[in-house]
Amino acid sequence: MIVLDAHCDAPSQMVRLRDFGVDNAFAQVDFPKMRRGQVDASFFAAYVPARLQGQAATDYANRLLDECFRQVSQNADAVAFARCSGGVRRNRKAGLNSVILAIENASAIQEDFGLLKTFYRRGVRYITLTHSADNQVGDSCTGVGTWGGLSPFGKTLVPEMNRCRMLIDVAHAADTTICDVLALSSRPVAYTHGGCRALASHRRNLPDELIRGIAEAGGVVCISIYPPFLSDDFVRTLAESGLEEKMSVEDAFIADPADPAKRAAWEAVQLELQALPRPGVDRVADHIEHAVSVAGIDHVGIGTDYDGIEVTVAGLEDISRFPALWDELRRRGFSARDLTRLAGANLLRLLTAIRK
Ligand SMILES: [Zn+2]
Repeated sequence: MIVLDAHCDAPSQMVRLRDFGVDNAFAQVDFPKMRRGQVDASFFAAYVPARLQGQAATDYANRLLDECFRQVSQNADAVAFARCSGGVRRNRKAGLNSVILAIENASAIQEDFGLLKTFYRRGVRYITLTHSADNQVGDSCTGVGTWGGLSPFGKTLVPEMNRCRMLIDVAHAADTTICDVLALSSRPVAYTHGGCRALASHRRNLPDELIRGIAEAGGVVCISIYPPFLSDDFVRTLAESGLEEKMSVEDAFIADPADPAKRAAWEAVQLELQALPRPGVDRVADHIEHAVSVAGIDHVGIGTDYDGIEVTVAGLEDISRFPALWDELRRRGFSARDLTRLAGANLLRLLTAIRK
């Protein structure tokens, strides 16, 4: 089976001076861990914070992509880029893991279809339309409802992304935005990282009707391993822990990743988060099972959000732990064929579908 992680924020960690060629003591993703976890391919998303606008957003996305190019070429004996499902298969035959580029937050394209094409030529294969705030494309699920769904520009962007074969990612988008995308897109879409709102009330999660809508349009819904998406109990635990206030040390670390004290302060908070009672691998499996019950086995995948999250479920602390998830799903009666689809075949099919 080919294993594909639909979303991680590895590029953000690369610019925080992590060397992906070595097995880092404190990391959710690096190339040795990817190999150990038998994860054949991972979408490395260049995450553009909502506060960056205009050329600053584009420049930041390019800076992250540049760093990906540098680190992948430095580790050419272990990893290579893939730009399509065939590329993932070819790399695997050659004994290489694959990195597929993505951009999280369409602010990077600045209402410019030329930039959309430029990013595609660089190897970017999906763009997440929004992040934590409404942007020029449409409303975020954690925004203020600026547009009531897609913006007028967003309504022109969807068919343009279809035309230039860029996969549309609706993670982070408001329900209204996702409805608009489903009405306008002539190609299937992805929801690359999140959970099921029927099991946990987080706004980032999908209600059943949208899980069904994405599946009926041929798309794939990918389940994350981020505890707040999976369990309302964990949201309460986190709020009561007082650790949320301490998380600002991450901003200090991001601003100055070369300072060992700032790095250590952020690592210490992450260890405190890890010591909280956390949901386990079984909770990820609950969300996968629910999504499968709504969408069908051909429309669900995994999108961890590693390297973009400060805490993980217990048992999936980094990408090398992936096999624990397959073990749990096997125990629940998923067949080898089912696992093959969830692990990667569904997403590979989607990558092929958008090129036709
Ligand atoms: Zn995200």
